[in-house]
Amino acid sequence: MIASNLLLIVGVLTTILFTVLSLVLVNRIEEVHRLQGALKKIKRSFDDLDEQAKLIVKTDLELNKAQDELDKRLKSLDALQKTSRLISTTLDENEIFRRLDQSLMIDLGFEKNLVLVHDEDKILHGRVNLGFSPEEIHFVLTNLEKNKSLKQAMEEGHTFSSVNSARHEREAIVRLFDVEHFVLTPILTQNGIIGILLVGNRSNAAAVTEGDEELVSVLANQIGQSLENARLFEQVYRSSQILESKIQDRTRQLASLLEEVKHISRTKSEFISAVSHELRTPLTSIKGYAAILITGKLGSIPDPVKERLEKINTHSDNLVKLINNLLDIARIESGRVEMKMEKCDIASMIESVRDLLTPQMREKNIQWQTEVDKNVPELVLDKHQIERVFINLVGNAIKFTPEKGTICIRVHRDTETATMEVSDSGIGIPKEDLNKLFDEFYRVDNEINQNVKGTGLGLSLVKKIVEAHKGKVWVTSELNKGTTFYFTLPLSP
Ligand code: ADP
Repeated sequence: MIASNLLLIVGVLTTILFTVLSLVLVNRIEEVHRLQGALKKIKRSFDDLDEQAKLIVKTDLELNKAQDELDKRLKSLDALQKTSRLISTTLDENEIFRRLDQSLMIDLGFEKNLVLVHDEDKILHGRVNLGFSPEEIHFVLTNLEKNKSLKQAMEEGHTFSSVNSARHEREAIVRLFDVEHFVLTPILTQNGIIGILLVGNRSNAAAVTEGDEELVSVLANQIGQSLENARLFEQVYRSSQILESKIQDRTRQLASLLEEVKHISRTKSEFISAVSHELRTPLTSIKGYAAILITGKLGSIPDPVKERLEKINTHSDNLVKLINNLLDIARIESGRVEMKMEKCDIASMIESVRDLLTPQMREKNIQWQTEVDKNVPELVLDKHQIERVFINLVGNAIKFTPEKGTICIRVHRDTETATMEVSDSGIGIPKEDLNKLFDEFYRVDNEINQNVKGTGLGLSLVKKIVEAHKGKVWVTSELNKGTTFYFTLPLSP
């Protein structure tokens, strides 16, 4: 009984224990489940965090890459600007290449660079080079010529780069220049391609970007422009040198011609002087004998003979006048007549010329006007010679002005000279004769000259006298309206 009670008690206790343990177990299992749930959540959070961390790292890497790109681009732009400035401030082709060699090649940040440029015979030469041996350049030069399609594409202005070229082109360029990443662009001017520019890296170095391509194209344009400017300058410089040496040659020729002309002119003056002298003596005798015969002192002479003798006298007079003029021209030209310079009031001189020529003007009923500026000072001149100038000009004006015409003398003052004008309302002078008028013996072929005798030496003498006073003489004329002769005299001699 006791034993069965004990057994019962043990059974009950066991059941209770079992129940309690079961309850504890269930509780623990629930706890485990809860913990497992929490663990899962934590794991998920970790996973999320991991994802985010990876994203941050990736973004950071990308940012760094972009920053590097930007830095590289800024550096390249800086190099480009520096190079542009350097090469655009010289007009010497060799200096451009020297500066490119120093700056571009180092600053652009490529391992290999090459500038090939045409010479005058369109043959390419390596002018700037980094990372190429002479043999490699020779290889490029000989093989580039052979690659017709590449050559033609570049002549058309096409730029190639490892980022955007067709495969066969890329491979050809890689073979030619031994670069994996590259930009190859033509150097163009207004007259077409004058060279090429290549920048590149070998396989283990950084790849080029589209930005690099753009940059290298801009640089090639800049090189093209600078070379074009330098060549144009060279051309202009060379032409100016040629022109200068031609001018020097011509000046030398002209100087020797001038000497020759001076010599001839001197010889001519001497000859005219000598001949005139030789003529004057017998002419004076002829005139003298004619004059004696006319007087009848050597016996009476019949009227027809007297008439002829008077003609001899008149012709002799004309001849003496001509010879005297010729002698004067020759003497003034050779400087053998010294101008007797003295102060003179030009208005009074004009009045005395007027008095002298009034009878001739009256004969033709010609009006005379004078307009002399009050501010023209006394001029220093050879009175006798300048009076001859006025007499010649006014004499011609009377001769070539029809009846009832007008002759006007004007004098006005300029800054350094006084200008005298002798104008008439006469027959005028054809345009084509104007520039020959001051030549010796030149006379215009007109009705008056056919009837009235003249020597054609008056204006030539006028010119010589005015020039001996350091003045100038010229003429304007309108046919059938009138003519004006001008001459200047310096205000201070
Ligand atoms: P000459 O009067 O002896 O012929 P000049 O040398 O004085 O020689 O003049 C040369 C020529 O110029 C004249 O023959 C004449 O044809 C022309 N000439 C000069 N003055 C005038 C003028 N005032 N009007 C028209 N023709 C003139």
